[in-house]
This record gives sequence, structure tokens and C-alpha cells, in this order.
Amino acid sequence: MTDISISIPGEEAKTVAAGITAQEALKELLSKKQRKQAIAVLCNGEATDLSATLQADTVLELIPADSDEGVHILRHSTAHIMAQAVKELFGQDVKVAIGPSIEDGYYYDFDRDPAFNPDDFVAIEERMAEIVKARLPFERRMMPIAEALAFFADQGESYKVELLKDLETKGEESVSLYQQGAFIDLCRGPHIPDTSWLKSFKLLRVAGSYWRGDERNPMLTRIYGTAFSDKKDLKKYLNRIEEAKKRDHRKLGKELALFTIQDEVGPGLILWQPRGAMLRKLIEDYWKDAHYKNGYELLYTPHIARQDLWKTSGHLDFYGENMYSAIEIDEVAYQLKPMNCPFHIGVYNATKHSYREFPVRWCELGTVYRYERTGALHGLMRVRGFTQDDAHIFCRPAQLEEEIFNIIDLNLQVLKTFGFTDYDVYLSTRPEKYVGSDEHWDLSTKALQGAMEKKGLAYEVDPGEGVFYGPKIDIKIKDQLGRSWQCSTIQVDFNLPERFGMTYTGQDGAEHQPIMIHRALMGSLERFIGVLIEHYAGAFPLWMAPEQARILNITDAQADYCSGIYSELRQAGVRVEQDLRNEKLNYKIREAQMMKTPYMLIIGDREMEEGTVTVRKRNGDNLPPMTPQEFADLVRKECEQGTA
Ligand SMILES: [Zn+2]
Ligand SMILES: [Zn+2]
Repeated sequence: MTDISISIPGEEAKTVAAGITAQEALKELLSKKQRKQAIAVLCNGEATDLSATLQADTVLELIPADSDEGVHILRHSTAHIMAQAVKELFGQDVKVAIGPSIEDGYYYDFDRDPAFNPDDFVAIEERMAEIVKARLPFERRMMPIAEALAFFADQGESYKVELLKDLETKGEESVSLYQQGAFIDLCRGPHIPDTSWLKSFKLLRVAGSYWRGDERNPMLTRIYGTAFSDKKDLKKYLNRIEEAKKRDHRKLGKELALFTIQDEVGPGLILWQPRGAMLRKLIEDYWKDAHYKNGYELLYTPHIARQDLWKTSGHLDFYGENMYSAIEIDEVAYQLKPMNCPFHIGVYNATKHSYREFPVRWCELGTVYRYERTGALHGLMRVRGFTQDDAHIFCRPAQLEEEIFNIIDLNLQVLKTFGFTDYDVYLSTRPEKYVGSDEHWDLSTKALQGAMEKKGLAYEVDPGEGVFYGPKIDIKIKDQLGRSWQCSTIQVDFNLPERFGMTYTGQDGAEHQPIMIHRALMGSLERFIGVLIEHYAGAFPLWMAPEQARILNITDAQADYCSGIYSELRQAGVRVEQDLRNEKLNYKIREAQMMKTPYMLIIGDREMEEGTVTVRKRNGDNLPPMTPQEFADLVRKECEQGTA
């Protein structure tokens, strides 16, 4: 028998006989307490089952159950257990497709008619619990691919057969199968040692999903579920999805009368209702003001352009599938804009430029149109027409780092104003296919890094994930529930200035090509407002609340007095409404609270006599009575603080 050496990184190696399992090897190397949490193991860096046998020298590292990798293995194993339960319960009526782990959980796709629905969950969960209790080991075995094909074909598992045929085409000779109980699945693994490791799980929802994401393929039922190594974490997660449901911007958008999407108009097209339009106007005003203060100038550009422009820009070649079909005008083809950039270049090329006027900073709230599949559309988050908070900066290479710094500075300031102070920052560097010289790439990557470091911003590098025309910075913000949203992006571009022959006169009197920076801070207004609605659960800070205050009278006797205050406050710039209906005060208060109105101004006989209003906050707190003018001052001050 051959001897092999086994070790834990940084520890002394031990010599053992080959054929020992990873589990046994851990016993040799670690105390019971140390290895207790091991759900699987890294063998020479590769995730492996504890039951695997070791045939060569191996460095072992624990994968604890509560680590990211451990939870991923647990969730993926839960998918197998769920598929086992489904097959046991629904037998021959069901074909299984695939079941990966995903962020926050896992899913498994099933082919069944009728489709599964949440009413089936209780039975499936009960059967899963029995499987867990039975402590069935996950057993791995290798099988020649021809044998596996025959095995799954025999079971009528046509999706597995299709997957195997692909593997065969790729030249695989054998595949690994995992079995727990009588259920056998095609899988690379690794898995939990046995089903008893699954202690806290939950089925969450179903969705339709096309096999391999292709609309020409059959529609499968996807059952989503999740699992955690700790019951407390599951509970926390379930609370979070409950909270997310309450905050769903589609639900709140309707309740707060912010926006509507109608089939008659078309999917993915937003109609802003008055309150939503006001919210948007306030955000736009703040945005324009912040840009003006930071040295930007505003542009307006059209929604369509000649198709030739999109040829020159390269959008038709590189981005054509996201663009809508041509519109013919006077026998010339035009297309809706998917981006604003070529228009800003048009403005640039309208006049001659000198290095003296650099940097040029132009911004626009530019509405663009991009094709999204119907199935991908989602409220305000994924739409077909949206407004980018776009800007383009043209500068000299030497100005790049400072400009990036300025952008980041403004970016973080804007995000902070909207209540986002927690974010993840990514730097994407040169991909395999790229345009521009290596020198330019190095210069701009260094400029992006330098600016972030100067700003004290921690970032992660995504190697090779830059756009073909230049490196970029992406900022993902975290909302109240800890969810990440990609919003801001800053991209350096060597491509468009070249394509459009942009120049400026340098200090040396010769013509040079400017560097172009594309950037958006919020990304799109639609999506950002969707995020804001969920972040604040619709209770917007005063400065962006579409309705800041609502006047409520106690009886009809105060109606005229109320109307007077209404006019006075509107004149003073307060966004005020009045509810003078002959309804009980409590009823009217409840309605105002449902609309998340920050202030209620309650007016009875005493207020009328004293010329005051009683101010009630949306959280139920009362402020001492004050004059309408004092209230207007309070609103103004609070708004100033909000956007300071
Ligand atoms: Zn698996
Ligand atoms: Zn652009």
C-alpha cells in the first residue's frame, strides 16, 4: 500500500495509507471540536465531499457549515433533497431539470403538468423533513457517460439526457452521480455528508422558467427555497423577505399613487402619477442644482437620431439587439436612442475646443429606450424607457485623476443625500478584447485607482471586467434591508472620441484627442426611485416627500380657516394638501398616515381662535401649536438640512 502525506496548511504533515477518506484524514489532523463544523473539505484547494478517498498527498482545509462555501453546499444539497421529496410524492408525473444554489437560497426546475403551486409546499416540506430525519448519506459514484445516458433515458429524465449529451459533445467520458435514498442526480458535488445536516430550510415561491432560459423550450416550474446552517439566520432571512414584500415598490407605488404601468400603453413604460411626478421633479431639481454647483452644464437632446449616427458610434454593431427597429422619416432610417453619448459628442463637435476650457462637464437627464424581454420587466426596476442621470466629461489625460476624484466626490455626496452611506465599490480592468493603446489603459486604470485611494474608498478589483472601450468604477449601494443595487458607474472611453474624430487644440498648438468619461450616479431615475421607495418604505424624507403636510379640520366650522392656511402655506412653498371631508378626524389621520405624509396639521376651534395649527408627525408625535408661518419655516429648515 502506498503512503501519502496529509496536512492542514501551516501545520506539520502526517503520513497515512492511501485510500483514507477526507473525514478520517481530518480526524488524524484535528481535534473533535475543531472538525465538528466541517460540512465538506478543500482538498488541495478543491471543494470535496468528506467521504472522498485520498490517493495522493493532500493539503486539507475545513469548509465550515456556516461559511459562504459551506452554506452554498448546504443549499445545493437541499435542492437535491427537495427533488427527492418531489419525486417521492409525485413520482412519474415529474421530470427533474436542474437545481443550483443561488444568492440567498437555491431552486430546482421541474417539468410537471399541472405546474406546482405554493399549496404543494406543505406536503413537500413534510416529506423533506422525513428525509432529513432518515439521515440518508449522500453517496457519490462515477459512471461512464454512455451508461449514465441509458440510465436517465430509462427513467424518462429527458432533461438529464440533454445535459449528458452536451457533456458527451464536450468530450467528457464519465460523470459523477449523487444518490441519497432512491434518488439519483447528475451532479459535480460536493454535498453534505448526510441529509441530517439540513436543519433549517423553507420553500419560498414558484415561478415559471423556460428550460435553459429559452422561450422556444418548454416552460418548467421553478421552486425556490432556502436553507441556513442556523435556525436564527433562517428566521432573520424570512423576516427580511416579509419586510421586503411590504416595501415592494410596485405595491407601494400603487398605494401611494406614484406611478402606473398599463397594458394599453405597453409593458415596461411608466406613467408617473401626480405624486410620483412631484417626487421625480424634486429629485431632478436637486440633481440639476448639485451638478450646477459642481461645475456642470446642462444639455437637452432628442429621443431619436438617424441610423447612420448609431453606425458611427458603433451602437448598431455592439448594442443593436437592445435597440428598437428603425422609423422611416423622409425615406431616411431613424432609431430611438439607447444612449445619450453621441448627442453630447454632437454638441462638442459643433464648436472648436481648446485645452484652456477643459474639463468640459455636460449633464443631461436623458431618456433612452432599450429592448428588454417581457419576462425580464419588473416594476420601475427593469423598464423599456428610462431616464439616465447622464453626464460626459471631456478632459486632457493629465486631468483624468482629478476629474474622477471630483465625480466620486459628487457621487458619494448625492448618494448620502438620498440616505445611502453603505456601498461596495468595484474597479473593472482591461478585458481580453479592447480598443485603445495599452498606455491609455494603464493611465486611466491608474487614474481611477488614484482617485479612489485619494478619496479613501475601499474597492474590489474585477480583473478583465472593463468595457471594451475603457476601465470603469461601479458603485453598488446597500439599502435599509442590506440588499445591493448597482446604481453608479464611471467609465473612461477611448473609443467614441476616435470614432467621431473629436479634437481640441493643445498647449502646443496641435490637435489632440480628448479623453471622454461617461458617468451616471443614480443610474436611471426609474430604477433609483424604485430603490428609494423600498429603502424608505415610501416614507420619504421631508425634502422629497411629494406631499409634505395635510390639513385636517375637526368640523366644518373650520373649513374656511383651513383653506386660508392652505393658500398661505402653498404660497410659502410648502407642498400641502387639505382633507376637509366630513369624516371622523381619526379616519382622516389614518388615511394621511397611509399616504406616509410627514406632517398633519390639525385644526379645531381653538387653533382657529389662536391663529395656529397643531402639528402631528407621521410617527404619531405631536409638536406644540404654532402659526402657519412658523410651520413653513420649520419645513424649510428641515428640507435644507436634508439636502445639505
Ligand atoms: Zn448536486
Ligand atoms: Zn455616455
